[in-house]
Amino acid sequence: MEPIISVRDLYKIFKIGDTEVYALNGLNFDIYQGEFIAIVGTSGSGKSTCLNMLAGLEKPSKGSITITGESIEKMNEKQLVAFRRMHVGFIFQSYNLIPFLNAMENVAMPLMFRGVSKEERNKKALEYLELMNIGKEANRSPNQMSGGQQQRVGIARALVIDPEIIFADEPTGNLDSHTTEEVLALMRNIVEKQRKTLIMVTHDPHIASWADRQLRVVDGRIVETVIRKESKIEEEILRENGAPPYTVVEKQQEGEAR
Ligand code: ADP
Ligand code: MG
Repeated sequence: MEPIISVRDLYKIFKIGDTEVYALNGLNFDIYQGEFIAIVGTSGSGKSTCLNMLAGLEKPSKGSITITGESIEKMNEKQLVAFRRMHVGFIFQSYNLIPFLNAMENVAMPLMFRGVSKEERNKKALEYLELMNIGKEANRSPNQMSGGQQQRVGIARALVIDPEIIFADEPTGNLDSHTTEEVLALMRNIVEKQRKTLIMVTHDPHIASWADRQLRVVDGRIVETVIRKESKIEEEILRENGAPPYTVVEKQQEGEAR
């Protein structure tokens, strides 16, 4: 079983005047197709930086990132754009819907870059809205929908291009706790059914516990790996690989010397 994402020796160092901030301080991990991964840690631990590297939105200072066999740290901007359009869906905390388009048009949007006809785009968009249980809201504009509904539109838009990988940075950050549970249940359901790979960033340990595997990050390092009990995909990965293919890192005290 080959990983869909491999990260090796990944560093991101920000220089602010004379000070160097190690936002990522030597990350090593593999992610397999079908896993729901949570990158969890307190504010400033490096979660967003990590996600931005994986999505090719920022260049690493050092190290390699291989996604579906391609070294994305070596790609130029044009190649990265093409790569993201092919393989990646994004779910944002603030939904990022286009206010003057209705729900269906928002979901259909990413298909425009693929030269899909309008009729086909709208049909697909409606399918995905129905999958998210908001088919009835197809003609509403974002400001006529609740936060939970808007985020379902956001998820439908991420899924419509049928990406192998979905990135989500604090996707439930603007939702109340009840809606958060609903949206997480929906996301987990889709990941399982469609065998998508979902990488979600969160500061909230409870939200992270929805994932099959949690990577806990402190000061730009993974300090702990937590596997969800009775996770089908983790059992399958274990079975296929014979042994745990990932290192379950011992818990390290926060603030311990680098
Ligand atoms: P998180 O998403 O876990 O809150 P970030 O990845 O945003 O953390 O940030 C990790 C660290 O890197 C923090 O110390 C942050 O201040 C620093 N950092 C992030 N982006 C930049 C940047 N563009 N310039 C300077 N420092 C940054
Ligand atoms: Mg962040």
